Amino acid sequence: MNIGILGFQGAVIEHQRHIEKLGYEVVNVRYPEQLEDLDGIILPGGESTTMGKLLVRTGMMEPLRRKIESGLPVWGTCAGMILLAKELENDPQKHLAVMDICVRRNAYGTQIDSFDIMAEIPAVTKQTVPLVFIRAPYVTRVGENVEILCRIDGHIVAAREGNMLVTSFHPELTDDLAFHRYFTGMCVKS
Ligand code: GLN
Repeated sequence: MNIGILGFQGAVIEHQRHIEKLGYEVVNVRYPEQLEDLDGIILPGGESTTMGKLLVRTGMMEPLRRKIESGLPVWGTCAGMILLAKELENDPQKHLAVMDICVRRNAYGTQIDSFDIMAEIPAVTKQTVPLVFIRAPYVTRVGENVEILCRIDGHIVAAREGNMLVTSFHPELTDDLAFHRYFTGMCVKS
């Protein structure tokens, strides 16, 4: 199985190591042609405005959107969540706009813009998982087909709509493989 990671910037190598630990091949995706023959794709953390511009400049925005709409499993972590959202509360610029969620960028403000916490996410694993937030967004509204996987202090920080998974936090920056296992499970099934 080939798992793509959008390779423009951000936490690419960290995702790669986790996917390889699970025994799958990684494709560092920077060109539209590389979207063929993927079993899933990860949109990593980084800076969503920059990644959105690069998606347009490389001609990848439209083909990637079509792939996702036709069922390619996708996981957006942090900035990746922003790229996938149909609606952004505090940014007029939408990007892929495929998932029925509204997202607030930099939702934790400047005081606690980075923090970590342990949480239980029964849909993903029986063990508690460490969650690392870095200038993180969260979800402020979900459509009726969106499954909420985790709330922290009442805020939605993980959700799934069919083939699309989003997390506000960065499992690739911890030793825990639960989310990568969950996502590759989505890729196997599709
Ligand atoms: N604050 C970033 C943005 O708005 C996301 C941060 C991250 O991906 N760690 O794009």
